Amino acid sequence: MARYQRYYHVGKSPQEHRCKNKEKKMTSFDQFNLPPALNANLLAMGYTTPTPIQKQAIPLGLSGSDILGSAQTGTGKTAAFSIPMITRIMSSPRGSALVLTPTRELATQVMAVVNQLLGKRSFIPTVLLIGGDSMSKQIAQLRMRPRIIVGTPGRINDHLERGNLILHDTSFLVLDETDRMLDMGFGIQIDKIIKFLPKERQTLMFSATIPPEIAKMSAKYLKSPERIAVGSTTEVKTSIQIDVIQVSEAGKYEELMTQLQKRENGSIIMFVKTKRGADRMSERLNKQGFKADTLHGDLHQRKREKVIQAFRDMKFRILVATDIAARGLDISHIEHVINYDLPQVPEDYIHRLGRTGRNGAEGAAVNLISPEDGLKWRDIHKLIYPGQPAPAIPHGASPQRGGGGYKGSKPNGGGYKGKSFGKGDGSSNFKPAREGAAPGGKPAGRNRFKRFSGPKKATSQAA
Ligand code: AMP
Repeated sequence: MARYQRYYHVGKSPQEHRCKNKEKKMTSFDQFNLPPALNANLLAMGYTTPTPIQKQAIPLGLSGSDILGSAQTGTGKTAAFSIPMITRIMSSPRGSALVLTPTRELATQVMAVVNQLLGKRSFIPTVLLIGGDSMSKQIAQLRMRPRIIVGTPGRINDHLERGNLILHDTSFLVLDETDRMLDMGFGIQIDKIIKFLPKERQTLMFSATIPPEIAKMSAKYLKSPERIAVGSTTEVKTSIQIDVIQVSEAGKYEELMTQLQKRENGSIIMFVKTKRGADRMSERLNKQGFKADTLHGDLHQRKREKVIQAFRDMKFRILVATDIAARGLDISHIEHVINYDLPQVPEDYIHRLGRTGRNGAEGAAVNLISPEDGLKWRDIHKLIYPGQPAPAIPHGASPQRGGGGYKGSKPNGGGYKGKSFGKGDGSSNFKPAREGAAPGGKPAGRNRFKRFSGPKKATSQAA
């Protein structure tokens, strides 16, 4: 039997966060005196009011300051660094800018925003340098002397080493999601790349959190940086309704079926632990009549792009993903995040939830938590609600699965009899569900999906 709990996170949404000093008078992008073409493109993109991070970062970026910013994706961070970058490029016939991102997907998204901001009529050449993409195409584009280069550290180093890419006039550098780049082992690659850049430059560094190694890196690469932050980076958005379901590991798939039946509208992103597990899950869902596909690091770049595009175009409804592959995905119609497995790193929980409720839209998340997940859930809780008592960790890890289990837990033959998470934890950050809301229910919004008619067959085996 699964146990249900629903929470709403009472954090501030990005829109509600307020930057005390700089916000008062600024109501539109006109305030920044941007080049007219850029203003027109912003309008065409539907950006009329800067988000809090944009209000903070744009004037500082335009003034030439280095910036150390803590902000998650979903806050408008891309435009926050791209607007000063493009202004600088548009205002001078020389010089170029480089944006480093941890993943190919994020690089692709950043490039798309940059190209939109430049506009269709722009003559400013740009290039996207990511692994898995055609080398000869990239070399041809590099011959055009691109002035904005966006890419991942591995491929950029490749081009630098082969002499295809010259960065001696690159006086604007953005390090995006720096914490993730370090997590992914790109520290040395970044070091190497920065050696090719002139010392006289402007550097903007963004990171979801600023742990000591990021602070150290900032001291090395940034000059008297202005420090900006959008709220607490360990907050998820208000508009996300969170269901926590306690279930045995073996009962997860059946519970998933129940959840999918309840969640009739909107696209779903589901996170699993392993690449193989993602493939198996997607296969199984398809067999049962759900439209699903997979996104993970073993897929070739072209395949990954195809999957993302098909998901964007709503050709299928459920994207089964691993953490790295899905980081930074910006798809507005994702209404549900399903944590089939909890992430290894607590911070990834926040990134996962950030896939829904984009830019103030409503979203829902469901966590399927087995006794084996108890410690991970406690760490996530600690990160999101520092200082709050951690939820009770259930007993019940079976002896066979005890490898990652709990000290002192009582085997109970696999059946779950633990206590409810969060129950009685005194957390004031949670508030109960709206009265009358059905579990998993959401206000029906416009969407192009047919009503889900249910699986062909539900099984109780774990995927
Ligand atoms: P990001 O954090 O850069 O991934 O942006 C999150 C989402 O907010 C994207 O869909 C952007 O297109 C959108 N966005 C960013 N800035 C604005 C703005 N000023 N007005 C409206 N939408 C925005």
